[in-house]
Amino acid sequence: MTVLSEAVLADPVALTRALCDIPSVSWNEAEICDEVEAALKRLGHLTTERVGNTLIARTDLGRGRRVMLAGHLDTVPVNDNFPTRLDGDVLWGLGTSDMKSGTALALWIAATVPEPKFDLSFAFYDCEEIEAEHNGLNKLSKTRPELLAADFAILLEPTYGLVEAGCQGTMRVRVTTSGKRAHSARSWKGENAIHKIAPVLERLNAYEAREVEVDGCTYREGLNAVFIGGGVAGNVIPDEAWVDVNFRFAPDRDEAAAEAHVREVFAGFDVHVSDTAPSCRPGLDRPEAAEFVAAAGGEFRAKLGWTDVARFATLGIPAVNFGPGDPNLAHKQDERVEIPRIRACADALRAYVEEQ
Ligand SMILES: [Zn+2]
Repeated sequence: MTVLSEAVLADPVALTRALCDIPSVSWNEAEICDEVEAALKRLGHLTTERVGNTLIARTDLGRGRRVMLAGHLDTVPVNDNFPTRLDGDVLWGLGTSDMKSGTALALWIAATVPEPKFDLSFAFYDCEEIEAEHNGLNKLSKTRPELLAADFAILLEPTYGLVEAGCQGTMRVRVTTSGKRAHSARSWKGENAIHKIAPVLERLNAYEAREVEVDGCTYREGLNAVFIGGGVAGNVIPDEAWVDVNFRFAPDRDEAAAEAHVREVFAGFDVHVSDTAPSCRPGLDRPEAAEFVAAAGGEFRAKLGWTDVARFATLGIPAVNFGPGDPNLAHKQDERVEIPRIRACADALRAYVEEQ
């Protein structure tokens, strides 16, 4: 039995509800992936490939450009909010905002636009709500990057119908100072590593973060201490101290450039990069991206957080976030989505991919 009937596939709201009512907490995406796969195969105009519980579908019409629409299939754990409930213009329940209303739009376009003006690829993937190593899109970008090939990507995460372009990168570094232990009664015999941290904090205090415009989007960077440590005992001059610094960097820097910048700021200190995730260019200078912004009403803003769009960036594909859900409701017990917003996003996407 299929819940994704032809009638359901034809209506983005019914489709949102149907997807939400298939339970798919992370690690349990087999059933929803089966349903989506069966529905796409029935359509006949798409080639599909499944890797685990991640499904890629594509048109192959020989168009000059290819656009990717992507959405994750999983949700966070149930919290007394399953299945969905419809109340007037609002659909309540787990996954309605994050992000089955968005994933439904990708599936709806796949089902109802057999001859798009660009070639389209669709990615429905698993394990987004847990550690990145299990993320279906992340795994595919490493093992089968050719399946994700596109000129531009739209990730249908909740943005409340606004185009949020690119994303900032993030890097964590540890700045360490070293000294020499001694009894604090004879401190002149030692060298205090904690005191040596002072210039690190001074540089952070004096740091003027850039505001950068990339492809018409303004990104505001930040360089901030997030942890600090050091000390041996109450009567010992410490021989080591450290500050963990988080750098949020604009998409005109890649990870190497971000690291070089941080090393320059802390020149003379021992700097170790502990964690890093790439930025993603908004790519709004590209015609397919500009056309999408126009179809979505002409407004856009920079994405300041980090999202899966950066997975596309590592493959050289510019990407934006765009979905009907309200990001403030993601992962909340009272998660919900407004039906008119689903319809508005559906109209924008359809106008974008349909031949005029
Ligand atoms: Zn999400």
